[in-house]
Amino acid sequence: MGLTYLRPSFRQTVRGMRDFLPEDAWKLRFIEETARRLARLYDYDEVITPVIEHYELLAAKIGEENRKRMYVFEDLGGRKVALRPEFTASIARLVATKMVSAPKPIRLFSVGSLYRYDEPQLGRYREFWQANYELIGSSNPEADAEILSLTGDFLSSVGLKNFMIKVNHMGILRGIFESEGILENEQNTIMQLLDKKERDRALKLAEEYGASGKCLETLKSLFEIGGNDKNSVVNEISEAVKDYPVAINSLNNLSKIIDLIEYGDLRANLYFEAGFARGLEYYTGIIFEAYVPELNIAVGGGGRYDKLINLFGVEMPAVGVALGMDRIMLAMEKQGVNPPKSETARVLVIPVNESTIAEAFKISTMLRRSNIIARMETMRRSLARSLSDASRRGITHTIIVGPKEIREGKVVLRDMRSKSQIEVKIEDLPNKIKT
Ligand code: AMP
Repeated sequence: MGLTYLRPSFRQTVRGMRDFLPEDAWKLRFIEETARRLARLYDYDEVITPVIEHYELLAAKIGEENRKRMYVFEDLGGRKVALRPEFTASIARLVATKMVSAPKPIRLFSVGSLYRYDEPQLGRYREFWQANYELIGSSNPEADAEILSLTGDFLSSVGLKNFMIKVNHMGILRGIFESEGILENEQNTIMQLLDKKERDRALKLAEEYGASGKCLETLKSLFEIGGNDKNSVVNEISEAVKDYPVAINSLNNLSKIIDLIEYGDLRANLYFEAGFARGLEYYTGIIFEAYVPELNIAVGGGGRYDKLINLFGVEMPAVGVALGMDRIMLAMEKQGVNPPKSETARVLVIPVNESTIAEAFKISTMLRRSNIIARMETMRRSLARSLSDASRRGITHTIIVGPKEIREGKVVLRDMRSKSQIEVKIEDLPNKIKT
């Protein structure tokens, strides 16, 4: 009977999907570990939600662009489901249905893979990873400031430098549109265009939706405002939107949030851009995106969404951030930042011939039980080849298990860095390797 090989086209990963080889998996897990450490430091509790959710839940407020890119299918039970394109909808569902009576605020952390049928390119994948933090139950500026501060700490903790966090407040633009009687879904379409920096088209559309000449002028002047100096930007925006009181309230809110951010140098990393919007429809307050100079795509983004949880009939203001772990990994590579190499000893146990395989196996087990990272040579290579294999792998110690030494209850312990070796009693191995 002939063997049927898999067709070459099926040997590749599906377009937009990636394998993480050990070095990349290590980097991704390092970022994840940093994310988890930060969650502990800021006292966020981890929750795990399913990758598959009802389509209706995920589609509700995600915005047209992302809605079109969802992986949607019918499961065998005939339900219309989708792979999650973000965490926030799941978190909102979880909080509104299972944590309504939990003491406020609720601080939640989640990490995992997400799915969007984006056009694959550098930093844009169909399966990608996010670390996600949500602070639910408080509408006060200190909650927004905490999320911003966490974002800055995250980026510094993985070793990134010169990052910039672009901020704006959805209430400024929405306040103007509301005063002009532009409907929410019309506003959403304008925001999608602004998100893509298609400002001329956004203005044209606003005009079509009935925006006044004064409104268009206000928008144009807002699009020109940007900078690092909070006070001067706030003054400029304030001047531009003076005829729109709702927008002024939002500006004051933004100003209060930023005033809280004094600690460290995060404030120097903030950049205010009055024409900046985000495509996700649920944002109601501050919005932000993080960038590094080496990449022109955001490494993270977030904002306040006070109405989303309302979809479940529960009123709960919330603010959150999603950090794109794949893009952070790319940014680290671009900046030459590597996860710290572990200094831990790694041991290769080498039986010199078949007669000592069982002993070598036993010693490997004993080492692992003493918490020492150990692998056994299982290719039956010669001693010389085993040693060069150990060097190639960056092994710190080898244990050479020979028949003569074993008869005396001993083995040879070789330090691969100094190339010195000593005879050691088997029971003394853990101590010798640790010191
Ligand atoms: P969003 O949920 O759109 O606010 O995205 C938050 C973060 O997730 C972005 O800033 C990116 O870092 C990351 N992200 C979004 N879409 C993708 C994608 N297709 N591939 C990789 N990372 C992504």
